[in-house]
This record gives sequence, structure tokens and C-alpha cells, in this order.
Amino acid sequence: MTTYSLARLVLDGSLPEKVVLDYLVRLKTPKSVTVDATPDREHFSELFARIEAAHVAMTKGVFIPAPLDAWWCSAKWCGYHATCRYARKPMTVSMTGAELQNEVKTTLVQIQQKAN
Ligand code: SF4
Repeated sequence: MTTYSLARLVLDGSLPEKVVLDYLVRLKTPKSVTVDATPDREHFSELFARIEAAHVAMTKGVFIPAPLDAWWCSAKWCGYHATCRYARKPMTVSMTGAELQNEVKTTLVQIQQKAN
């Protein structure tokens, strides 16, 4: 919302009184949620610091992968998923119940040994 406020300031010469995001939430019974904020010039310094950090990272070739639990880190949402070395790629493991039980036992023993 700070970025929108800044864009409005740059384009129109004044801050908007309020910035608003409207979300449509897909539920059994869909609903809309509105989140609003009052723009504050003090937030611009945080935004500029983030933009500067991103610029420095990009010019130095630094790439920070998405967090492991990022919903957007998937073939459906990220255009780089097929070639990205950080992409989470689902694996299918096939094993019998006995093999699984044995694997769990082995892992638990290893964890216990590391803890001691
Ligand atoms: S696949 Fe790579 S580029 Fe895409 S979101 Fe995940 S980490 Fe980022």
C-alpha cells in the first residue's frame, strides 16, 4: 500500500487520504474483505530502503529463493519453476509398510544418536 501511495504522490502530486485493498475470498460462501490504511510519509523511508536493498542484490547477482513453504513456488504460479534450482519438486516414494516402518525406526535412531 505504501508503494501505491508513493505512485499516487509522484503521479498526482499529493498523497491519497486512504489506500484500500479489496480481496475476494474463495470460501464455501465467498466473501469480500477490505483492508485499508492511511498513507504516511514516514513509511517511504522503509520502502526506499527495501528498494535500495533489492537494487544492490540484483546488481550483484544475488538471488534469494522463495521460502520453502511459499505457495507461489510452484509450476502453477512461477514461470521459472522448471529451470530454477531452488524449486520445490514433489517426489513420489513407493515403499511397503514394512520398509516405511524400518525407515522410520532408522531415522529415529539417528535422531536419538545426534541428540546424545
Ligand atoms: S521456483 Fe525459483 S524463482 Fe520460482 S518462486 Fe521458487 S525459488 Fe523463486
